[in-house]
Amino acid sequence: MILPVYTYNHPVLRQKAQPIADLSDEINAFVENMFETMYNANGIGLAANQVGSTMAMTVIDVADADDEDATEGPLILINPVIEAYSDEEEEFEEGCLSLPDLRDVVVRPEAIQVRYIDRHMKEVVREADGLLARVIQHEVDHLNGIFFFERLTAIRRTLSQGKLKRIARGEIETEYPLFTP
Ligand code: ZN
Repeated sequence: MILPVYTYNHPVLRQKAQPIADLSDEINAFVENMFETMYNANGIGLAANQVGSTMAMTVIDVADADDEDATEGPLILINPVIEAYSDEEEEFEEGCLSLPDLRDVVVRPEAIQVRYIDRHMKEVVREADGLLARVIQHEVDHLNGIFFFERLTAIRRTLSQGKLKRIARGEIETEYPLFTP
């Protein structure tokens, strides 16, 4: 089932997500809906609060992106925590399904170490770099109530205000369903 994507500035996108203690059939079904919603919108990552849930969970698939190093298929990260960041940083233009039409260059660490629970409730600690590291950082930000534009330089952030106001007013059209506050 395709779920509507919550947009700026719905309160659920400003909340800190709650850890998941155990998976249930209900949560597994929700995960499938998250993947369907993400693929329908041509996204490569979706955090649970973007579809109205406060669960600390994100789905990611960077396998089809234009990056020969990005071969990771569908991933579910439950209770993800980024434990370490590389000193090396990288610029990359980001977008967000909750911020339709807004794209801008964000500087982030190039590589990370992340700890999470996988779909079998097994703890995983792994390193990621490139596009996967980028998407994990963007999605973990969502689970902490942070939007990517808050990581822009002051000038770029100021320039994004007009678009943000239009998104908040629902004056935006997309090819996927939205839930505007
Ligand atoms: Zn996003």
